[in-house]
Amino acid sequence: MPKAFFIDTTKCTACRGCQVGCKEWKNLPAVPTKQTGTHQNPPDLNPFNLKLVRFSEHMDKNGVVSWYFFPDQCRHCLEAPCKQASSVEGSILHDEATGAVIYTEKTAQEDFEVIHGACPYDIPRLNPATKQIVKCDMCIDRVRANLLPMCVKSCAMGAMNFGERADMLKMAADRLASVRKRFPKAQLCNPDDVAVIFLVADEPKKYHAFAVAEGPQLLTRKQVLAGLASPLRRAARTLRG
Ligand code: SF4
Ligand code: SF4
Ligand code: SF4
Repeated sequence: MPKAFFIDTTKCTACRGCQVGCKEWKNLPAVPTKQTGTHQNPPDLNPFNLKLVRFSEHMDKNGVVSWYFFPDQCRHCLEAPCKQASSVEGSILHDEATGAVIYTEKTAQEDFEVIHGACPYDIPRLNPATKQIVKCDMCIDRVRANLLPMCVKSCAMGAMNFGERADMLKMAADRLASVRKRFPKAQLCNPDDVAVIFLVADEPKKYHAFAVAEGPQLLTRKQVLAGLASPLRRAARTLRG
């Protein structure tokens, strides 16, 4: 049975337990970082941070400031655009049993810009030393051993959930109905397309520019291969500042 995550951002306190748990389980090294005016650290996903809690501040018309938290990671798309854009046999796998999209060492033979450009969620990163493209692998080793992904295991607030897709969809729908009573704009992010389903209480773009898929996912494979998705992402980055 395919698996799924349900990430309830309304329960997230930005403790970064998931971010640290991921880094520890994957035995990823420390990297130089810098502050950018928020508590988001490091500033972005990188080859050694496959999970990142994104922070953003918003002020309403009454001057009340809210903090939005978004524990970002690969969405394990059901029809993964990155896999569709792959030109190297065996470099990007879709595990049928779990639904995990897995990058292998053969990604070193891929054109990073093509794979990165195909992802509507701005996820893949290039390891400069190995030339491999990397991202979250759903903790496939743990899941195959009937253990929770480490980011889920590390979350004490119940924001990170993992299980059978049908169960996660039911949990997400029930929680959405409850949250909407207080936050009418609450929604699920691309629940029909991904295995990592986020619940946000406000417009997704206020959490993260790539919280929901737009543009590149609508392009044909031929256009993706032509690299048209990258300029779209760059334009969005420019708008994001
Ligand atoms: Fe691939 Fe991006 Fe989807 Fe992850 S989120 S499976 S990297 S297209
Ligand atoms: Fe990291 Fe594993 Fe969570 Fe993916 S599933 S973000 S690899 S801890
Ligand atoms: Fe949020 Fe849970 Fe991650 Fe803490 S561990 S940052 S509460 S999702």
